[in-house]
Formats: sequence, C-alpha cells, structure tokens
Amino acid sequence: MTEFALSELLRPELAELAPYLPTLGDFAVRLDANEAPALSGPELRERLARACLELEHERYPDPTMVELRAAIAQRMGVAPEEVLAGVGSDEIITLLMTVLARPRAGAGGAVSIVTTTPSFVMYPQSARVRGQRALEVPLDASWDIAPDSLLRAIEISDAHLVFVASPNNPTGTMASLERLERVIEGAPRALVVIDEAYVDYADRDQLALFRRYPNVALLRTLSKVGFAALRVGWLVAHPELVTAVDKARLPYNLNAYSQKFATLALTELYPSILNIVESVKRERERLTVELGRVKGTLVTPSQANFLWFRSERPARDVFTELCQRKVLIRSFHERGGRLSNQLRVTVGSPAENDEFLRCLREVA
Ligand SMILES: *Cc1c(COP(=O)(O)O)cnc(C)c1O
Repeated sequence: MTEFALSELLRPELAELAPYLPTLGDFAVRLDANEAPALSGPELRERLARACLELEHERYPDPTMVELRAAIAQRMGVAPEEVLAGVGSDEIITLLMTVLARPRAGAGGAVSIVTTTPSFVMYPQSARVRGQRALEVPLDASWDIAPDSLLRAIEISDAHLVFVASPNNPTGTMASLERLERVIEGAPRALVVIDEAYVDYADRDQLALFRRYPNVALLRTLSKVGFAALRVGWLVAHPELVTAVDKARLPYNLNAYSQKFATLALTELYPSILNIVESVKRERERLTVELGRVKGTLVTPSQANFLWFRSERPARDVFTELCQRKVLIRSFHERGGRLSNQLRVTVGSPAENDEFLRCLREVA
C-alpha cells in the first residue's frame, strides 16, 4: 500500500502561507491592531451583562438576524434586505470569494481577485487559501489608488471581485472619489467591494456609490469602534447579491451574544461609539502633530484610527527597539521596497499615545 502523504492532499498554495497571527507577548502599550481604546465605563459593561441574563442559551440564535439587521439598516439608512452580517467583515470577504468564484474562460479557467498594495492582508490570504489568484496593484506615491493599473489588472485577470479599502489599512488614506468612480465604471463585469472598516473616523463615506452603481458593495465592522471582541461585521449590497451570499453563509454564523451585543451597540449604546470616535479623532490630530515633530518622521494625514508614518531609521530597528520598551506597533519592513521605513501605529488613549511618543523619541 502506498504511504499516506498529507502534502499530496493539501492545496499547494498553503505551503507559501502562514496563519494570521498578531504578535504575541507581554506589552505595556499595544497599538498594533487598530482596536479602539478602552474608554467605556462600567454602565456599558453592566448593560451587556444584563443582556446576557435575558438570552435563551438553550436555543439557536435567530438565523435571519432580524433585530441586528434592522439596527444596522436603521443606522446606515439602507434596507434590511441590503444587509448581511457575519463573523467580522473577514467572514464576509470569504463568503464573497465563495459565491463569486466562477472560473472565467478568458483567464484560462482561473479565478482571480484584484486589490491594492499595501492593503489589508486578508484579501490575498483568503483568496490564495481557496486556490484563487490575487493581483495586488500598487498604490501611487501618495497612497491613492491607481485606476488605470487597477483596470488593466481586472482586464488581464478577468477578475470578478475587486477589493478597495477606503480608508485603507495600513495607509489611513481614502481612495479619491473620482478615481474610484473610474474603476467602478470601467469594470462593469466585476463587483467592486469598498471596505469601509475605518469609515467612522473619516470625513465622508461611500454609501452614495453603492446607491448609484449596481456593481458596488460595502463592508463595515464594529471591530474598530470599541467592539472587536464581538466579531461582527456586515455587507451592504443589492438584495440579489445578499440573497446569493446568504446561501453560502453557515447557519447561525453569528452567535446569540454577538447578535444581541451588536444590536445594543448600534442602538442604545451608540453614544459610546460616538464618544470613542470623537476622542480618537481628537487624539489622532494631536498625535499627528507630535509625531511629525519627532526627528526624521513623515506622517501621512489619516482618515482612520491609526497613523502611517515614515521613519528615518529602518522600520525593523524602530519596531524592535519599541518592543524592547514594551510598546507594540506594526511594521511592514518584511514586504521591503518602499515599505522598509514605514510603520503603523493605532491611536490609543492619551496615556498610551504619550508612552508611545516618549519611547519613539528615544529610538527614532
Ligand atoms: C480590521 C479590518 C477588517 C476586519 O474587520 P473584522 O470585522 O474584525 O473582521 C476588514 N477590513 C479592513 C481594511 C481592516 O483593517
């Protein structure tokens, strides 16, 4: 009998991929994951605890998420039929890749997605683990999208699915509206997903594009505004797409606690989100100024809850020496090239930001 070899069963792409793992370890200040600072008081915890007492834990959660989708729809000014919630927007990304993975003859039967770089790593990661190709089109020198290159990549690969994070992670910049429109109009055979994970911190949103174009969908999440623990994100899409994605969604994907807490976060507890957003935006302005004064740094103006900055010294060294001081941020030096000196820091509480600045001044 031939011997069992797991490697002959596994997708070959897996050999080149690593699991998504945040840096582990003991840090006094963690500004690496774009979470919101812990600003909410005991009242919020008590309200959530009371909500737990009311849940029927013997029963499956509401499979259609009526309450949560109504709360999202109300908050955003869309219809509940245009909303589908998932285990973070991460899950929605994978669901879209599942339902839109139709091999295209023009591309030799390959399935491709197109996105930008640098951007959110889960787009290429989730595509590749499914055996799909991911074309990553570089942002321009001011970290804006490059519409001509994107359209060319879409055309060459015959991609079904395009992801544009706006505001973008890790650059904190928004795609300029006119360029985004050019991509949407130039790619009528693809769905353009605008990932608005950070839009609560931005000056504008892109809901009007969803309204105007049949090939646009949006992603939103509660993760960056104070409720990362819930793992709740959602898709805003035209009902025909929502219906299709719903067929691929696992039954009861969102547990009852997440559904309930997320509904509360978007209704009764919404003032706490507004409070976080206001406070972080204030701190972002202060941090932008102070960071800009640190020797050799160049800060990109941010529309998100983090700052993207260039350091004079290699990002690897700055990152490592901050870690030694128990301050964790994100470095992108492993991707090399123009990212070798780029770092990303989440806007934290005033005290966290001060400690980060103090240590950065020592190592910059
Ligand atoms: C953090 C992030 C997400 C993931 O959000 P979850 O809802 O926590 O899965 C999606 N897109 C971008 C661009 C992000 O930075």
